[in-house]
Amino acid sequence: MNIHEYQAKELLAEHGIAVPKGIAAMTVEEAVAAAKQLPGPLYVVKAQIHAGGRGKGKFKELDANAKGGVRLAQSIDEVEHAAKEMLGNTLVTAQTGDEGKQVNRLYVTDGVDIAHEYYLSLLVDRASGQVAMVVSTEGGMDIEAVAHDTPEKIHTITIDPAQGFMPHHGRAVAFALELSGDTNKQCQKLAGQLYEAFMALDVEMLEINPLVETKDGDLLVLDTKMSFDGNALYRHKNVEAMRDETEEDPAEVEASEYDLAYIKLDGNIGCMVNGAGLAMATMDIIKLNGAFPANFLDVGGGATKEKVTAAFKIILKDDAVEGILVNIFGGIMKCDIIADGIVSAAKDVNLSVPLVVRLEGTNVEKGKEILENSGLPIVSADDLGDAARKIVAEVKKAA
Ligand code: ADP
Ligand code: MG
Repeated sequence: MNIHEYQAKELLAEHGIAVPKGIAAMTVEEAVAAAKQLPGPLYVVKAQIHAGGRGKGKFKELDANAKGGVRLAQSIDEVEHAAKEMLGNTLVTAQTGDEGKQVNRLYVTDGVDIAHEYYLSLLVDRASGQVAMVVSTEGGMDIEAVAHDTPEKIHTITIDPAQGFMPHHGRAVAFALELSGDTNKQCQKLAGQLYEAFMALDVEMLEINPLVETKDGDLLVLDTKMSFDGNALYRHKNVEAMRDETEEDPAEVEASEYDLAYIKLDGNIGCMVNGAGLAMATMDIIKLNGAFPANFLDVGGGATKEKVTAAFKIILKDDAVEGILVNIFGGIMKCDIIADGIVSAAKDVNLSVPLVVRLEGTNVEKGKEILENSGLPIVSADDLGDAARKIVAEVKKAA
């Protein structure tokens, strides 16, 4: 789960980490009121969307010369003007895709006198089973280009979670960032605090870009992105409460209400599968047969009729879907019960695209019989390869 910049900064501040003062706003009036509570005279008004690249982004509704989603403002009037231009409009950045994201929240924050912009992120490195702290002296809006053109300017310091953060890790980070004197000391402390916050909150990825050194030599977190391990959210009610469903794919939100693991993809074959491993294999074999999956969907081990119906509806809401492949292994749940669920769900949703079903496991013969006698144009398949070939062929035939 992702959260907004202002929420991430709240969490970091709770861990004693220095962030500029700021206040979130949902309306122009709130943005003005927020600015009045800040010392001024320099403010920054920042669009709050779950995507980076806001500074270089463009608003669809404004002309091409208009500024992006991070605006410096020299007065309360300029804050008001920026808020009016941003709220309700659609910001397109390198990370939003062409459709962009509507800006519904702003963050009005202190303007900072920047001496240098650094990059610092923390993530779970699955290869080493450790936490990686990735840092660079070349922070700011072009970190992707730095990684591509001058990878030697990016340094990784790994921390073994069994051992925890040690003073030498802090020194390595400060050294990689080429800091000296008091700023170097601040950096060592900050790296430790960030690691503690990362672990305590079950963060999956924490990116600070930029981390800035001010003209006074202080280190400040100027921008941050945080995403969390969904499986650990139950331990952090305060983080869970920060979820902003308007930022998420509506189908994915609906799926989570039914406890379905659903991720939308770009293809045209809807998949309904039980078990993540089988779902991955199904997607692979669809690709092998020359088509692309429209989604990943794991209905879970105990796929009830209600779940199957909800899954069908979610898949069919996607206009790109031209056929559905159901691939279910009846282990805990018997095949005849699953077949009943599929038939009644298909009738419920007035299925309008080809449907291929592959069932395997307990009571498979009974299940196939139910599908055959349903009167619905369901194509039954014998194994995974057969199922993939059939759905690809059916979709081609229908087109
Ligand atoms: P994004 O990464 O989405 O473009 P940032 O918050 O990183 O958004 O802002 C982009 C740039 O705007 C930063 O690299 C920094 O130069 C400038 N900036 C952001 N916040 C402030 C601030 N509070 N004071 C001064 N400059 C800022
Ligand atoms: Mg940034």
